[in-house]
Amino acid sequence: MAANNEFVGGKVMTTLYQHGTLALLVPGLFTGTQTVGELLKHGDTGIGTLEGLDGELIIMDGIVYQVNAMGQVRVVNADETVPFANVHKAHPQPKIAVEDASSDALKQIALKELKTENLFAAIRVDGEFSQMHTRAVLPQTKPYPTLAATAEGQHEFNATNIKGTIIGYFSPVIYAGAVAAGFHLHFLSEDHVMGGHILDFDLAKGNLQIETFDNFNLHLPVHDPDFLETKINAKQAMRDIAKAEN
Ligand SMILES: [Zn+2]
Repeated sequence: MAANNEFVGGKVMTTLYQHGTLALLVPGLFTGTQTVGELLKHGDTGIGTLEGLDGELIIMDGIVYQVNAMGQVRVVNADETVPFANVHKAHPQPKIAVEDASSDALKQIALKELKTENLFAAIRVDGEFSQMHTRAVLPQTKPYPTLAATAEGQHEFNATNIKGTIIGYFSPVIYAGAVAAGFHLHFLSEDHVMGGHILDFDLAKGNLQIETFDNFNLHLPVHDPDFLETKINAKQAMRDIAKAEN
């Protein structure tokens, strides 16, 4: 049995694992501080970014895909590193059929199913999208710029009538800073040629699955001297996160 999913009173305890925090990206702490191989010990499904803020990661069935700033998709190797990522061990969930929903409408459906905004939850949508609009950030080199500066250089991608999968999370707003508050969703097309961090979409038809978590396991980059020494201005961090993630 995986260490992250213990039986308690006959119920599987589910855990959302996170390496790094969103706030540490704000001043430009983009050094990869955990290998993808280590990350995958904590789950088979998730999202993240590579060292240097190199593109958008989407993790499905234990395989890590990167969508880079040129819009290219490839499988990431176990020895590559992440400054920030979320994973969980996915358990099959009831499939909620959804038709003709904008991204905003789908989020409302998910919140209605959740019945609370105070739990962490994984979101998965498999379906056909009449429109998908994503972005991927440009890789940065040392000395790293701030997150706000990198957001200006991102590339956007549009696709129509595309099949694929959305993977991501809903996080309670109270944990903003450590996480991206609200919905943080990534996309990968079924043919693995288009994806990225989702800006908006229209779902023609698909299935929504939601999994809530009992535990939130925040793992910090304890061996990274830059992380240990950097002073993070909380107010500035919240402003820059809002700008970069919306
Ligand atoms: Zn993202």
